[in-house]
Amino acid sequence: MDYEPSLKLRLKPKEERRLLAGHLWAFSNEIESVEGVGEPGSIAELLRHDGRRLALGFYHPHSLICFRVLSWGAGAPPPDLIAQRLAAAGALRERLLGSADAYRLVHAEADRLPGLVVDRYGDQLAVQITSAGMERLKDEIYQALEDRWRPAAIVERGDTGLRELEGLPQSRGVARGAIPGPARFSEGELHFETDLLEGQKTGAYLDQRCNRFAFRRLARGAEVLDLFCYQGGFALHAAAAGARAVLGVDASEAAIERANALGRGAGFEPRCHFVCGDAFSILRELRAQGRRFEVVNLDPPSFTRSKKQVAAARRGYRSLHREALLLLKPGGFLATSCCSHHLEEGVFLSDVERAAHALGRRLQQVRRAGAGPDHPVLPAMPETAYLKCAFYRVS
Ligand code: SAH
Repeated sequence: MDYEPSLKLRLKPKEERRLLAGHLWAFSNEIESVEGVGEPGSIAELLRHDGRRLALGFYHPHSLICFRVLSWGAGAPPPDLIAQRLAAAGALRERLLGSADAYRLVHAEADRLPGLVVDRYGDQLAVQITSAGMERLKDEIYQALEDRWRPAAIVERGDTGLRELEGLPQSRGVARGAIPGPARFSEGELHFETDLLEGQKTGAYLDQRCNRFAFRRLARGAEVLDLFCYQGGFALHAAAAGARAVLGVDASEAAIERANALGRGAGFEPRCHFVCGDAFSILRELRAQGRRFEVVNLDPPSFTRSKKQVAAARRGYRSLHREALLLLKPGGFLATSCCSHHLEEGVFLSDVERAAHALGRRLQQVRRAGAGPDHPVLPAMPETAYLKCAFYRVS
């Protein structure tokens, strides 16, 4: 059955081009007229300028992103569409990730579920909604997740600033079921725990999973520094791969406590330990002490939340790379990641090269990656790609 919304948006001439190429948003300045009355998140139909139907999706009268495509042309009623898309997203993960027990089950627009993120950690699910349209369909979403995955708990992590752009309040709590204890999941032989209510992001940084496994190859037998380590992701993989010594640093006390506990539990002490502090100060302290490392990993939080701050962010990344390179022995490896949406990969990588060049160091890039396959990217929609990760051999 086709779904016929009464709300209709008509695009200005030629504004359908980006959408026809596969982009899923129409911006408010691209809309010529709105027929009918719509609340934030109402289902609407998007028409080309000549009146032909283009897509069905979510309307927002006050957001810069005025329309988000749910389906092209006619579509099933939204709750059915969403259940179908959730099933498709789940099948894709099962196919690509095999036996992994923690991954991004739904990556919003890239799974054609605009503004919906679902992360799986063992038998618990964390949900983050950033569009008013999905917020209106929340109960149907929880029901579909319960029916298909039977999680012990579904946790709502509506505590992101992105919700403000759609006029949605902050929210955090258990939406369905009950939390039986820490969410447990594994990466190879490593066993991680996290708290979906209190942990950073939705509990952990699932996007770096593949890069953590790749990092093992650099770390074997080496002295490793992992900066911005959260609960020890890269560092613990390094220790598991047989690194000689590993130091992890993070500003969050809770994360460092967990990292130390995980390291102890895995039997990595004393060659692996974690300290709480500001990465920039610790870099300078380590240099003053004359410490040098064979492998340095940098995985900072985003230095910019908007396009306006890009110049300042680039200066921040450049100084971080400079400090890290000063600690790196010749022939060592630098692993570096950037999760800022607003910094393009080419710009980020050329800044790494400039920092090396300024110190007279030469780079060989040995790996270049993004997030894992549970974070798909729509080629027509650069906004769906954000993580950049590169490994270099540094002479
Ligand atoms: N590498 C981690 C993810 C890191 S996310 C993993 O694989 O799981 C970025 C981390 O930087 C967060 O844990 C945050 O607590 C930390 N952080 C933010 N500002 C910091 C600072 N100035 N110094 C050290 N850590 C910082």
